[in-house]
Amino acid sequence: MFQTTVQLLYPPRCLGCGTMVNSDFGLCGTCWRDTPFIDGTVCDSCGIPLQGQEDNHRTECDDCMKNPRPWVQGRATLLYKDQARKIILGLKHGDRPEVVRPTALWMARSARPLIRDNMLIAPVPLHRSRLLKRRYNQSALLVQALARETGLPYCPDLLVRTSQTPSLDGKTAQERQAVLQGAITVHSKRRHRLTGRPVLVVDDVMTSGATLSACAEACIEAGSGDVYVLVLARVPKDD
Ligand SMILES: [Zn+2]
Ligand SMILES: [Zn+2]
Repeated sequence: MFQTTVQLLYPPRCLGCGTMVNSDFGLCGTCWRDTPFIDGTVCDSCGIPLQGQEDNHRTECDDCMKNPRPWVQGRATLLYKDQARKIILGLKHGDRPEVVRPTALWMARSARPLIRDNMLIAPVPLHRSRLLKRRYNQSALLVQALARETGLPYCPDLLVRTSQTPSLDGKTAQERQAVLQGAITVHSKRRHRLTGRPVLVVDDVMTSGATLSACAEACIEAGSGDVYVLVLARVPKDD
């Protein structure tokens, strides 16, 4: 009954163009075609699409081969461009929490190869000052919805920022790494939840992966099992 009332008051609209849609997936046919979903062969570490056929060997991009990631496997749902960019900017800055549910459905689909028994889901933490400015942590909302879709438990404050880090925009991979050194840690009161347990760290966008690396390293240092990462969108590589 409640559900029906909500749907009458807020009929689902396309996240791309705002026309009415009748599915939970949140996009009309045209916007669906214009949204760069990642499909086919991908780097098993960072989720970027790769040329060529999938074989039985582990598939990784050049970057991940050169600089192995601290996590064991990762996936991304969208390429960060065109329509995907618009959807994510809406999620990030536009106070559009209705974007969360459909995107969590897409992400649950991308997460399938990563799901392990007893896995715990955790968002990349946002620093408190930025949280206040933005009013909500979009990764935490995504994680909550994703936990509902996958049936996995989640811990919204498993990871915390210990220091305020400047924006990573325009910084090189090394600079990003230096900035993030020790900036993310496991919450002292949540440590017991990840002992020996696989963790899925979730973020909205992956650029270099430096933030996700800092999160994975913090989990491993605190005694977690293998770490996996899932992002809504992967920025195409700049080099
Ligand atoms: Zn549309
Ligand atoms: Zn890769």
